[in-house]
Amino acid sequence: MRVRFAPSPTGYLHIGNIRTALFNWMYARRHKGSFVLRIEDTDLERSKKEYEERILYDMRWLGIEADEDVEKGGPYAPYRQSERLEIYRDFLEKLTRQGRAYRCYCTEEELELRRKVALSAGRPPAYDNRCRGLTNTQQARFESEGRKPSWRFVLPQKMVRFEDEIRGEIEFDSSLFGDPVIMKQDGIPTYNFSCVVDDALMRISLVLRGEGHISNTPIQILLFEALGFEPPAFAHMSHTKGLSKRLGSRSIKDFEEEGYLPVAILNYAALLGWSPKEGGEIFDPRTPKIYDQFDISHLSKAASNFDEPKFEHICGQHIRRLTDEQLCKSVQPYLPATLSEEKRKKIALASRYYLIRLKDVETTLPIFLGGEIQLDSDALKTLTSDAAKNSFKTLLDAIITAQIPSDREKLLSVVNNVSLQTGVKVSKLFLMLRAALTGKTQGPEIHLILDALDTDTIKNRLEKAKHICEEGKR
Ligand code: GLU
Repeated sequence: MRVRFAPSPTGYLHIGNIRTALFNWMYARRHKGSFVLRIEDTDLERSKKEYEERILYDMRWLGIEADEDVEKGGPYAPYRQSERLEIYRDFLEKLTRQGRAYRCYCTEEELELRRKVALSAGRPPAYDNRCRGLTNTQQARFESEGRKPSWRFVLPQKMVRFEDEIRGEIEFDSSLFGDPVIMKQDGIPTYNFSCVVDDALMRISLVLRGEGHISNTPIQILLFEALGFEPPAFAHMSHTKGLSKRLGSRSIKDFEEEGYLPVAILNYAALLGWSPKEGGEIFDPRTPKIYDQFDISHLSKAASNFDEPKFEHICGQHIRRLTDEQLCKSVQPYLPATLSEEKRKKIALASRYYLIRLKDVETTLPIFLGGEIQLDSDALKTLTSDAAKNSFKTLLDAIITAQIPSDREKLLSVVNNVSLQTGVKVSKLFLMLRAALTGKTQGPEIHLILDALDTDTIKNRLEKAKHICEEGKR
């Protein structure tokens, strides 16, 4: 079993590309096959080295590296199409010798004009194959006019049927297509040609890709046949909606820089059109328990939807699953190096439940630095309520008397006592503490905040809050 991911290095990878890469990777792992990364860089103007390097980097970072690629090499190297031009030219020559490819001298302008005329006359705009039967003399005349040929494939005209492993039988009438260009004037192959030559030579057994390529498949099958190769199996995944929006349009590079966890990105990408029967919704697709359940025929035929809240939920869940040690280590780059390691650890652990991505620690950070904090309007409302007026001083005294308990149980028992004394609910008292210590009404657990802050800062914040309670204003 051999599968491949064949991106063009004309931009950064997005979650949609990663879904294709991941499903191919999972398929290869499940069937103990090989996963090939082929760089399709035949668009010389738009392809960039930087993008190619980033594709390799992203796949490594995500932990779904290919078994054969431009860096590792492999039995069917090279894996970069720009290094395979000779190979395509040889196959073109073979097809030309067999009369299955021919020179076409039509210019872009002529083709465009004919397309327009056909459309306005209500005819299909396909190429009319007019250069198919050119004699040597006619060809020589075009050459003498300074025209340069491109090469077209003599497309057999028939019904092409194939069994798509996701969608079932698909058929096309190839007589509706014109003969496709397979090699451009500059000697660079078109996508359909280089893709078929490479899939054949690289012994790809299944082509698993996006549904946008369904209409290329009949041409590719006819090319495989003309070249004397058995076509691989095909499976076309459904489209994902919503990838142009805020999060869906971010590149994997952006996600990495902002501290999204690779496992979370893969988990979410896997859910775009698939879900394991066992293992729930939060999982690591790189584990055998999950990829051994991967079956192409279970991929959804319906479009999937990039659901931002769900993506963020999954990201947060994976942060919660990190061990304390993993979390502290991962969050380090987002915290000031000037803070002690001890302090950074405490901040990381206290922030855990508020992180969607590691960078979010920057928003909880101000709470943990010494100095004053600003109260938002909800915090101010909490501290100026009647309940606060009647209980905050008692609460503050109890906390100080108990030497600022940072143990959850101890703190709870102190707050319980204050509740009995004052008749104010425990949850309200905690809310006051939160407002006083963080300036907000939501955030990390109070005992963790007490643990991470130094005594003076705690005392100052509580004292300031007491004044606010007493004066009823800031
Ligand atoms: N380079 C093509 C693309 O990025 C590959 C398509 C395919 O998988 O055949 O769309």
